[in-house]
Amino acid sequence: MARQGKVVIYGAGMSGLVAAIDLSRHGYRVAVHDREEGFGGGRKYNPSTHTTSIDVERTSEFIGLDLSPVFHPLVSCPFYFHETVLHPPLEVLDLHTVERGNRPTSLDSLLFTEATRLGVEFRFGSPLRREDLPKLPDNTIIACGLTPSVYEMLDLPYLRWYGWTSRGEAGFSNRSWIWLDESITEYGYLSSCNNFYFDFLFSTRHIDENTLSRYRGFILRHQGVEHHDWDYISGAVPLASPQNPRLFHHGLILCGTISGAMDPFFWFGILGALVTGKVAAMAVYDRSKAAEEFSRFNRNFARALLFKNKVWYRIRPHVNWLEWNIRLIGPERVRKMAKLYYSHFHAPFNLPGFARLGVY
Ligand SMILES: Cc1cc2nc3c(=O)[nH]c(=O)nc-3n(C[C@H](O)[C@H](O)[C@H](O)COP(=O)(O)OP(=O)(O)OC[C@H]3O[C@@H](n4cnc5c(N)ncnc54)[C@H](O)[C@@H]3O)c2cc1C
Repeated sequence: MARQGKVVIYGAGMSGLVAAIDLSRHGYRVAVHDREEGFGGGRKYNPSTHTTSIDVERTSEFIGLDLSPVFHPLVSCPFYFHETVLHPPLEVLDLHTVERGNRPTSLDSLLFTEATRLGVEFRFGSPLRREDLPKLPDNTIIACGLTPSVYEMLDLPYLRWYGWTSRGEAGFSNRSWIWLDESITEYGYLSSCNNFYFDFLFSTRHIDENTLSRYRGFILRHQGVEHHDWDYISGAVPLASPQNPRLFHHGLILCGTISGAMDPFFWFGILGALVTGKVAAMAVYDRSKAAEEFSRFNRNFARALLFKNKVWYRIRPHVNWLEWNIRLIGPERVRKMAKLYYSHFHAPFNLPGFARLGVY
């Protein structure tokens, strides 16, 4: 294949690696810079395990790489409204677990191995800084995920989040749970695969230690699991404005979460990162097709964000009321209703959020 010139990418996470792989296959020389000293995403967040909605077959087809070895169907995911439990209809939700980081079983390892095989050049310990911005070559791709300093230097609107995390050997795999409580705006959840767990309690407000203790008490009571080591972390999400999603910005190409390709409801970011990595590469060799694809994948973003802000955040603080309603209707009947609802929304390939289902 004829050599096409050089492309620089900042961010060796999922979207940056997918973009690098696709550009290499199209004959470009690719240099990927990352502020960390090796692959596997930010050390603050990884290794970790994520739970996400993804149509593995169609996503593999779209990015041209078989993802099935690293995505594992989720086998259980109870939703707890305080003490009341709902079992969602997993059979129609396409939920999977996936590992992030640099262990051999991770998604990052799969992508990094392929990028290296294709001759992508990596420059680790090489952060993007504000003073670099005017000197970046045309078609530079920014794939820096959830890093607040990059949103600030690029003048991108973002929301700050805070969270307690715990991680380690699990003794089980492909199980998750979700816990809702009024002291946080988002939720507590566990994800597990490859015998590794990642537990995360997060909110758009600071979370005090009492809330963490309540969550720990809950997981011990309901799941018989106790995690002792917890770290407090923070980051950015591109959910501050309905205009967040953008492929082109100040002469740069964006991809992954920083491009806004995130589900505003659950904050699922995996599918958006994989898909827009490919779209960012396309923006180098077919700009108008890439713009079209980016709009198509993010077409529900504004509506989903509006739903979250105007409807869900009004209901969300009243966990007792939600609990009361679920008990009144009956958890099994709610499950059947949810299944019926989701079964009738088969959008072909939907972002943000659910891979197969036009939920919003
Ligand atoms: C704690 C946590 C839990 C999550 N849980 C889930 C979940 O369960 N399900 C789900 O679907 N999504 C989840 N997400 C979201 C999902 O992980 C992200 O949306 C997704 O990883 C983003 O992919 P990306 O390619 O955009 O960025 P990443 O994969 O995060 O990669 C960004 C890369 O940029 C690098 N970088 C950052 N700043 C610079 C800089 N200045 N210069 C150079 N390099 C830089 C980082 O080191 C990193 O390697 C979670 C996110 C976090 C933080």
